[in-house]
Amino acid sequence: MAKFDLSKAHFATLCVHGSGGVDPQTGALSTPIYQSSTFAFKSARHGAMLFQGEGEGYVYTRLGNPTQAALEREMAFLEGGEAALAFSSGMAAIAGVILNLCRCGDNLVSSDTIYGGTHNLYKESLPLWGIEAREVDATDPSKIEEAIDSKTRLILIETPANPTLEIIDIERCAEIAHRHQIPLVVDNTFATPYLQRPLEMGADIVVHSATKYIGGHGDTVAGVVIAKKDFIDELRARILRDLGGVISPLNAWLLLRGLKTLPVRMDRHCSNALEIAKFLSFHPKVNWVRYPGLTTHPQHELAKRQMRNFGGMIAFEVKGGRHAGEKLIDNVGLITLAVSLGDCDSLIEHPASMTHSTYSKEELAEVGITEGLIRLSVGLEDPIDLIEDLKQALSKI
Ligand SMILES: *Cc1c(COP(=O)(O)O)cnc(C)c1O
Repeated sequence: MAKFDLSKAHFATLCVHGSGGVDPQTGALSTPIYQSSTFAFKSARHGAMLFQGEGEGYVYTRLGNPTQAALEREMAFLEGGEAALAFSSGMAAIAGVILNLCRCGDNLVSSDTIYGGTHNLYKESLPLWGIEAREVDATDPSKIEEAIDSKTRLILIETPANPTLEIIDIERCAEIAHRHQIPLVVDNTFATPYLQRPLEMGADIVVHSATKYIGGHGDTVAGVVIAKKDFIDELRARILRDLGGVISPLNAWLLLRGLKTLPVRMDRHCSNALEIAKFLSFHPKVNWVRYPGLTTHPQHELAKRQMRNFGGMIAFEVKGGRHAGEKLIDNVGLITLAVSLGDCDSLIEHPASMTHSTYSKEELAEVGITEGLIRLSVGLEDPIDLIEDLKQALSKI
């Protein structure tokens, strides 16, 4: 029946066609939004079968929904994984993975430069449930190995890391994880599957805040997990069923729409970011710039090895530290002062007082988030205008 084997298609083609194509009932080309909480059974026997997990069909949207399923099929294709599960947010996805792997008394080992919300989960919630998160400098993977013991159930890394843009060696972390027979989980939010495919480098589970580049338009909060089918089935049957962090059909559809343009958008995010990173590195009022695509980035070679391109996120510090940084973000006009990232609009923020404000002073220093560090999510505007805006804001310092 199929005239084209999608499993052999290239990335951009999968982005456009991977969710399953034309609706057989109506011919609708865009995946329908199945805005329904429940689904009628054909008979008492059919209902009982579906509740036993036998046969194909939908029961109730918390357990699965056709729009959600289309998104999951496409995300699994794009990451090169067996299966995927969508969640109501990136945090629901990350917490779901951890709670599915850890019991009271267990621990996980994580990179220490990490999304602020993940750090909160580690420090404030997991300890209440008897789960310990051990954060180590994972740019040296031997530190991960040193922290592993018989109660370690997973390794979680984020690369490029938020907000310092440090790069972690996925292959080496996977080797360590497998030597200890535990899974490696990679938060691939910053790179997206277009720029980096952790499963191909040995990772076992990929998580996303789909709120960012997957959606791409700053209008949806969502998360996705991609892994082996057994793990995804368990995650759906226990974590989603019992904790309930389900994505809405409308949000699943917004992500499907976002995915159609993912490679086109990422190419532009990357080229804009490189131009701006270069502009900033030569500006006399800028202390330093961190962008994995600059040869001055300490792990530029590693980034080149494991990424197709270097993404749309830049960290930098202006001379005069925090005060001068505040002056800069108060004076940008085109660029918006806001958290989140990966939108069409360029967004600027100050991690030490915003996204990473729950880190103590010591923790900030330890993971390299300086008081003056500014995070810029480079959007899709014309780079000339973005540089003009930064130029005028820098002149006010
Ligand atoms: C935003 C973000 C998250 C959390 O995702 P939400 O969708 O906000 O819950 C996790 N990891 C990274 C790297 C993020 O940027």
